[in-house]
Amino acid sequence: MEENKGVVEKRARIVTDAAPIAERADASRKPDGKRPTEVDADRFDRQKRVEKWDQATINKQNVLVIGAGALGNEVCKLLFQLGVGKVRIVDFDTVIEANLNRCVFFSPQDAENNTLKADVIARKALADYPHTAVTADARKVEDLEEDVFCQSTAVFGCLDNLGARLHVNAQAYGHAPVFDGGTTGFYGKLQVVSAPSACLECAMSERDYQLLWKRYSCVGEMIDLIDPKAPALATTTSVVAALQVNEFLKAAFGHETLAGKYVYYDGLTHTTETFDVPMRKKCPVHA
Ligand SMILES: [Zn+2]
Repeated sequence: MEENKGVVEKRARIVTDAAPIAERADASRKPDGKRPTEVDADRFDRQKRVEKWDQATINKQNVLVIGAGALGNEVCKLLFQLGVGKVRIVDFDTVIEANLNRCVFFSPQDAENNTLKADVIARKALADYPHTAVTADARKVEDLEEDVFCQSTAVFGCLDNLGARLHVNAQAYGHAPVFDGGTTGFYGKLQVVSAPSACLECAMSERDYQLLWKRYSCVGEMIDLIDPKAPALATTTSVVAALQVNEFLKAAFGHETLAGKYVYYDGLTHTTETFDVPMRKKCPVHA
């Protein structure tokens, strides 16, 4: 029988048969033969079995999620499931019906009532995720105090505009790592910034700056020229949010991260390309 060596090797790494797990559970039976109920009663038991895992490290995290749209929803879902201790969600927008194809926490009632996105997520967390204390912050990211960034252990960029991304990048640099995600249809991106790595602004091209300036009127008010109805898929959102939170986990447990790199995800070929972002000598954020 012909075998693909690569498939055989990788299959050996991934447990797709429940039997070995059942055996492990049997092996942990108490001396009196009773099955230890604590194992199944512990919400985090299965993730605690991951190599180098330390639940206390996750519980100590104080995380800032900027943007409560599609990516923000997915990122929050993962942070709550992991048992992150504190999450602050920053978004001044309200729920609309067109959010419901890709935002796990929003319901038709939320859209009908135009409820604040951050409030909805905080309410759902309170009901289902008692290990996470959630603060809903209905402000523009530009209105956040510097302290908010200084006190955070990680910042998630879940935004749809460059100006806000750059603000988050500049405020967080040197204080907390930034895991910045973005999607368009089947395509997505992840950029990880952790001082002294290159930052989001290091990756800016002349064209990006021109686009950015076009977004501001002569009185400095933001004009939204980016189409808010850009193509958005729940599948791509899930993948990119998972990449963002996975990098956060790696950082928390001391694994080498993708700091200073830009990852491009192509959902049509299921490939990622990872690029080094060169440090810009005159970057206004850290030069
Ligand atoms: Zn930079």
